[in-house]
Amino acid sequence: MTTALPETPADTVARLRATFRTGRTKSVEWRTTQLRRLRAMLTENGPDLAAALRTDLGKSATEAHRTEIDFTVREIDHTLDHLADWLRPEPAPVPAHLGADIRVWTQYDPLGVVLVIAPWNYPAQLLLAPVVGALAAGNAVVAKPSELAPATSAAVARLLPAYLDTDAVAVVEGGVPETTALLAERFDHVFYTGNGTVGRIVMRAAAEHLTPVTLELGGKSPVFVDRDTDLDVVADRLARGKFLNAGQTCVAPDYVLTDPETAAALEPALARAVEAVYGADPQASSEYGRIVNERHFDRLTGLLGSGRVVVGGDSDRTDKYIAPTVLADVDPKSPVMGEEIFGPILPLVTVDGLDEAIAFINDRDKPLALYVFSETEATRGRIAAETSSGGLGHGLPLAHLTVSDLPFGGVGESGMGNYHGRYSIETFSHRKAVLEKPLS
Ligand code: NAD
Repeated sequence: MTTALPETPADTVARLRATFRTGRTKSVEWRTTQLRRLRAMLTENGPDLAAALRTDLGKSATEAHRTEIDFTVREIDHTLDHLADWLRPEPAPVPAHLGADIRVWTQYDPLGVVLVIAPWNYPAQLLLAPVVGALAAGNAVVAKPSELAPATSAAVARLLPAYLDTDAVAVVEGGVPETTALLAERFDHVFYTGNGTVGRIVMRAAAEHLTPVTLELGGKSPVFVDRDTDLDVVADRLARGKFLNAGQTCVAPDYVLTDPETAAALEPALARAVEAVYGADPQASSEYGRIVNERHFDRLTGLLGSGRVVVGGDSDRTDKYIAPTVLADVDPKSPVMGEEIFGPILPLVTVDGLDEAIAFINDRDKPLALYVFSETEATRGRIAAETSSGGLGHGLPLAHLTVSDLPFGGVGESGMGNYHGRYSIETFSHRKAVLEKPLS
């Protein structure tokens, strides 16, 4: 009896490249078939995927569907609805120095074999939404789920090959050694979501092959709360945005900047909002998630002493539970303000009005998202004009990333490149310039 040896990363890439070279992945029919099958995978296996997400992150079924499974289905549907339109060659005006018989246009070419590396916090969505774009653009794909969400990784590794063209789509599970081995291969694009330290490793490895990268990174996403806003509305929206997935969301509000009087009034409003959303004992709420592992639990509990606890503050290591927590009187130099929190802790930092808030934001790395609660158009306009962030949300955290017609991505330390909807086609294609002059 012979046992097949496991495929090496080099074998996998060579196999997928051979498929790409046949031209099969380029047809719109192949692309739409793959997207429909991926949709079927998600809808037919919703309960299995939701169970895996509960195992990895304590996600409720509602949250698993809303933020991962249905999210990706919506991205597929939007792509299927518009793909033919997006792929249409785009004519360009012919300049006067060329003859009138000339035609020029741009068209999208698939790149080839692309690598998608995903993190653990939305382990299904952040693997599969880029895969949607890569397939829609006509590429072969290697998908690398996060080893820190092992149940979801295993579920995807089992399901994807059962639905998709296995000569063009491969799942490679594993952690640092496996990803390092993959990155040694030549890909035509590497799409990485995760932290900036590994982002640099990915970019260095890609540079060896002159492979373009998309880096979807994180950072501390600030919230500015203006005076004279309805703080019950602000608190409700902040609590829902911050504590979703126990704060382990790349675009979660990281900290709040506001003046001292507004902060004082916001404190009880946030305490009420947390109780309204998660009840008096969030640990007992089926809707509240858990911290991914002990390492992150210990890191986060180490940040709880950075301010006065307004609400929450308790934790249970055996359950990887940290209560939705609001900290007041937080010094900008305290540990909780030193790094991206990526957990259920919301510090309130006081500033002396709008100018100081803008300076505070601009003194730090460009964030992935910035949120503003202000009734004053001039204030909203100033923040939009005077700061730089991956995305900007007025009055509502997180929601901008659910709009498939908006590009999702960072700037500076929060990343480079973007995706979703037609922006994924841009990311995973080469826009080729074409000129045609008749020969006679
Ligand atoms: P993670 O630890 O799961 O790592 C992400 C991926 O990198 C994994 O697939 C992992 O295997 C791989 N990896 C880890 N170390 C590596 C190495 N040395 N070499 C090669 N590959 C390696 O996830 P994480 O980085 O902890 O994710 C959290 C971060 O991601 C936060 O900063 C968050 O803000 C950011 N994030 C950004 C987005 C976005 O869309 N912009 C989304 C989610 C998370």
